[in-house]
Amino acid sequence: MRNKLAWVDEEIAALKDAGLYNQIRTLGSPQGAWLDVDGENVLNFCSNNYLGLADHPRLVAAAKEAMDKYGVGPGAVRTIAGTMDLHIELDKRLANFKGVDSAISFQSGFSANLAVIPALVGKEDVIFSDRLNHASIIDGCRLSRAKIIAYEHGDSADLERVLQKDRKDYRRALAVTDGVFSMDGDIAPLDEIYAVTKNHSAILMVDDAHGEGVMGKGGRGIVDHFGLHGKVDVEIGTMSKAFGVMGGVAAGNAKVVEWLHQRGRPFLFSSAMTVPDVAACLAAIDLMEESTELVDKLWENADFFKAEMRNLGFDTGNSVTPIVPVMLGEAPLAQEFSRGLFSAGVFGMAIGFPTVPKGAARIRVMISAAHSKEDLEKGLEVFTSVGRKLGVLN
Ligand SMILES: *Cc1c(COP(=O)(O)O)cnc(C)c1O
Repeated sequence: MRNKLAWVDEEIAALKDAGLYNQIRTLGSPQGAWLDVDGENVLNFCSNNYLGLADHPRLVAAAKEAMDKYGVGPGAVRTIAGTMDLHIELDKRLANFKGVDSAISFQSGFSANLAVIPALVGKEDVIFSDRLNHASIIDGCRLSRAKIIAYEHGDSADLERVLQKDRKDYRRALAVTDGVFSMDGDIAPLDEIYAVTKNHSAILMVDDAHGEGVMGKGGRGIVDHFGLHGKVDVEIGTMSKAFGVMGGVAAGNAKVVEWLHQRGRPFLFSSAMTVPDVAACLAAIDLMEESTELVDKLWENADFFKAEMRNLGFDTGNSVTPIVPVMLGEAPLAQEFSRGLFSAGVFGMAIGFPTVPKGAARIRVMISAAHSKEDLEKGLEVFTSVGRKLGVLN
């Protein structure tokens, strides 16, 4: 009889043939501009550590101090015995930072989406979802069992078209979009999306995982960037990217947040954020409220790097954020490019299907406030030499 798991070997072999097999690198150092990766010291162009907070001394000290007082684990889900005063403080501080009525934290951004979407809509309802939304939004939508209607990426006119056509056939409607699209670095036209949804009684939700700590005044996110305070019903954020820690948040209308305390399944059925994570997130908020210095540095670095890459002749797509996709086309070329970078001391991962569409493989460069000007110049130099060698640049 055939081994019942033989299909795994076949699938893995197919991934390898297509250049889509994930080779997972191992870090032997904290996050930062430079990393020890598989024993090599390399310039880091891969992490979501936008503000360089992942090893910041104030976050580390806050985590240690909290562990001395509260231990490590929460010991329960939030609704039973897992809500510590630290969690309440974090929820309040997040709401205040974002300038919204109320906020609720989750274990991750991924769990936040799994909590929020099925709590807001169900079988009788409809979701209008940007075609390129993040996997965690897609999974949240599927879990809800609502009808899912995808609209064209970033296209508020197409959203209006489907709202006109289909909204009336359902009880409740939810319109959901990424704020910043993580693979292209473009942003949702949230002002137009708001204008369209408000005439169709659709709940408006934006997942601002890559905008939190990046977009808006001092990193207050995409709603702040567009000046839409009070108009977006719920904003998802993550503390795993710019905040440098781990955790998710839903922020916005107090009614929505109250409902999530009752019906957000990862809140009810998965244990609370850990003590050091919560304390480190609080320290991250302190830092961001004290000064916009890190956010300013991030943008200065990103603007410089992106402009130079374009001057060199690289195709950086539609990015308007510190995410710099370097478009290469086929996955095997992107993987070869990534290996070329790595042997020249630069860590830039190739991203292919299913994370991005087939034929749109790329190296995604993540710029951070932790990079110095010399780091960025070194990166440009290595990109130039690998680009020439592989015939991407003339
Ligand atoms: C990264 C990301 C998430 C997941 O956040 P985690 O905190 O890492 O779970 C969710 N949504 C979007 C749009 C993301 O980019």
